[in-house]
Amino acid sequence: MSLQYSFVVPIYNEEANIPELYRRLRAVMDSLDGDAELVFVDDGSHDRSLLLVRDLHQQDSRICYLSLARNFGHQIAVTAGLNFARGDAVVVMDADLQDPPELIPELVQWWQRGYQVVYAQRTQRRRENWFKRLTAFGFYRILRHLADVEIPTDTGDFCLMDRRVVDLLNAMPERNRYIRGLRAWVGFRQTAILFERDPRFAGEVKYTFGKSFALAVNGLVSFSKVPLRISTYIGMGAAAIALLMAILVLYWRFFAPNSPLTGYAAITVAIFFMGAVQLISIGILGEYIGRIYEEIKGRPLYTLAEVGGFQEVKEGSNRRDRNLRDVRLL
Ligand code: UDP
Ligand code: MG
Repeated sequence: MSLQYSFVVPIYNEEANIPELYRRLRAVMDSLDGDAELVFVDDGSHDRSLLLVRDLHQQDSRICYLSLARNFGHQIAVTAGLNFARGDAVVVMDADLQDPPELIPELVQWWQRGYQVVYAQRTQRRRENWFKRLTAFGFYRILRHLADVEIPTDTGDFCLMDRRVVDLLNAMPERNRYIRGLRAWVGFRQTAILFERDPRFAGEVKYTFGKSFALAVNGLVSFSKVPLRISTYIGMGAAAIALLMAILVLYWRFFAPNSPLTGYAAITVAIFFMGAVQLISIGILGEYIGRIYEEIKGRPLYTLAEVGGFQEVKEGSNRRDRNLRDVRLL
């Protein structure tokens, strides 16, 4: 009998959420019309998360888990889960119950109606601080204008993907993974369902400002070349201004020798302006070159310390085998 549904849940220090998450997910799994597996991906947690997950695996054979050998970050943890998930439809969700499990039957319905990607779109974020709301609001709108593919606004990674889409994502070698972008990139029939995002059930936010910022830069750089062009535009603008200035300076020299605008202040401002433009441009270039460097090294995306519950795991995809080799090394 083939497995119909997989739930991929990345976990980073979520001990306070796991029991409640399992309780609610179990109810959903029991209500679905096919067999389901629950894939927990422990992203190098320091708390008791892995112990709890191991216990659950003992109790319930539908639970499988991976434990990454260190903290690789949310996107990589999800990637690892997708590599191992075996279902015909794969749901990705957070462990903190901000993505309500009770929405899953609705995702499934749309999948059964023939959509390959069903993503959940937030209409509201309850009790998240204004700074996070504001930056997220701004970022998704900038991204939509700059990105080469249409990346829907206000959607996170909470979604259901068809096996075909998951296989395509698994075949993508890139390391700087912005999954919600890659998911949009593959195409097929996609649809959104709206939901209100609940506050975290327990525990602290694991996405620090630094991590969120890195994810945002990643999304922009991975899906747009516009930033590279910005320096060209500013450069052309600056050249035009410089030409104008040259003409003005000549004019003042001959016709208004006492003009205050010919002094050091104007020169200093111009020098600082050009210096700033050049440094920012080099920084933008650096972002893209850094990515080329990272891609070209071709290291595995993650290393695994422990795997539990995937019986026929050996006949998996290449990537799965490659990562399993790392497990055997440990
Ligand atoms: N997470 C992870 N690795 C990390 C950071 C977060 O696997 O380095 C997981 C975390 O356990 C949670 C999900 O990613 O299941 C989303 O994290 P969080 O709730 O902190 O982010 P937010 O809801 O603010 O986007
Ligand atoms: Mg959260």
